[in-house]
Amino acid sequence: MANTPITVAHGDGIGPEIMEATLHILKEAGARIDIETIEIGEKVYLRGNSAGIDPSSWDSLRRTKVFLKAPITTPQGGGFKSLNVTTRKTLGLYANVRPCVAYHPYVDTLHPKMDVVIVRENEEDLYAGIEHQQTAQVMQCLKLISRAGCERIVRYAFEYAVRNNRKKVTCFTKDNIMKLTDGLFHKAFDEIATEYPALENEHWIVDIGAAKLADSPNAFDVIVMPNLYGDILSDVAAQIAGSVGLAGSANIGSNYAMFEAIHGSAPRRAGQNLANPSGLFLGSVMMLVHIGQADIAQLVHNAWLRTIEDGIHTYDIFAEGVSKEKVGTREFAQAIVARLGQKPQILKEAAYQEGPPQSGAGVTSSKAAPKKDTVGVDVFLDWQGQPNDLGAMMEKVAGDLQLITISSRGVKVYPGGNPETMTGDHWICRYADKDGKPVSHAQIIGLLGRVADAGLDFIKTENLCNFDGKAGYTLSQGQ
Ligand code: NAD
Repeated sequence: MANTPITVAHGDGIGPEIMEATLHILKEAGARIDIETIEIGEKVYLRGNSAGIDPSSWDSLRRTKVFLKAPITTPQGGGFKSLNVTTRKTLGLYANVRPCVAYHPYVDTLHPKMDVVIVRENEEDLYAGIEHQQTAQVMQCLKLISRAGCERIVRYAFEYAVRNNRKKVTCFTKDNIMKLTDGLFHKAFDEIATEYPALENEHWIVDIGAAKLADSPNAFDVIVMPNLYGDILSDVAAQIAGSVGLAGSANIGSNYAMFEAIHGSAPRRAGQNLANPSGLFLGSVMMLVHIGQADIAQLVHNAWLRTIEDGIHTYDIFAEGVSKEKVGTREFAQAIVARLGQKPQILKEAAYQEGPPQSGAGVTSSKAAPKKDTVGVDVFLDWQGQPNDLGAMMEKVAGDLQLITISSRGVKVYPGGNPETMTGDHWICRYADKDGKPVSHAQIIGLLGRVADAGLDFIKTENLCNFDGKAGYTLSQGQ
């Protein structure tokens, strides 16, 4: 079988040592890989490249499509772009996969049986980075969630569960509040779950789900969630497993994938043969599965579990009475190599299934495009004053449309607002056709012309649309 080319970056701080240890284990285990090395991180940043990666390095990544990356140091001071964000966005790495596992009784943990995998959507949600200051007092961050994005990540989570002998997939959202965005994620989850009848599935509201995860992680197996919740809860889950220094992570896209440790470059530990290479090593195990070398992944992972069980520990997990031998980075890697072919006796054995690279590619929404009718418009205004005064002005400019409500930060303030509601300089005036008929672009432009003529400062509009007759917008509180 031909070797698989991969791109490797040794990174900064402890990066080079843990990468060397990881590659030593893979080589001794017979991993069928050809390595292309690129330089990223501090030196590249300090050469004046604000992205921390040279243009030529992208050529290697485009060629191999697989990136094993050691942690880097981001120099202090402004102007340096996050290499992780750049890589994720450039390569379209939509899924972040983070197994959070306890290794009790060998590594101290509050949750001895914890074995949870967090699958985080990596591209959408509030992280699209679309923010605007709309008025002196109000900022906006757009939360964008697409059906294709939801289907892709949810299917990835279910496929991951099948391949890794997992029993249940849980979805976390806040769709009791964000009915359209998180509602779409939940809906896609419910639909795709029906294609996997052998797996249990469930949905939790993210707040109580997070509390349950922190308290009783054994209740969960694979958890899939939108970007923001996943960002926060993947750190919480890794921390409560007790093994932040041991956790690896995969970032997967349709064409590319990146594997790494979740920790940083630990500069104070650099160059002393002290660092624990396990996080990067476990990232490389996910890489082996991804490139279709489940046999090698299983071999090295089981040897690693046996090493942990045998009490051969680096300083960060060494504990008197539990550990047997305190070793350095190189010696730890050698201990794993010496155990190739062995299996753990207490800890759960690693088992991976052969299969082609799992990318989630080929996912398409089978739904026919719904019929869209524009039935109204929200006009956002920057204005100071009392709701009833604004109401009178906005009634006057309504023309062939009807003013339905005015709201401030999502709470109705006109007509019949509550005097206790705090208002500011940000208002949303909702208009619809007087007879409930569809509203044309010309009507909206006419309305905006009258608003401008009245000297009012509109800052944006949002069309109100029905899709197959169903409202594609929410009502304001109190409407
Ligand atoms: P860190 O993860 O590097 O270190 C946190 C603590 O954990 C330190 O006490 C460190 O000694 C210890 N530690 C981390 N990894 C270890 C290992 N493998 N073995 C033993 N001990 C380990 O976080 P930090 O100190 O906040 O950040 C240091 C640098 O890393 C910063 O420049 C930061 O920007 C960068 N960073 C990079 C990445 C990445 O490249 N993916 C991620 C996080 C932080």
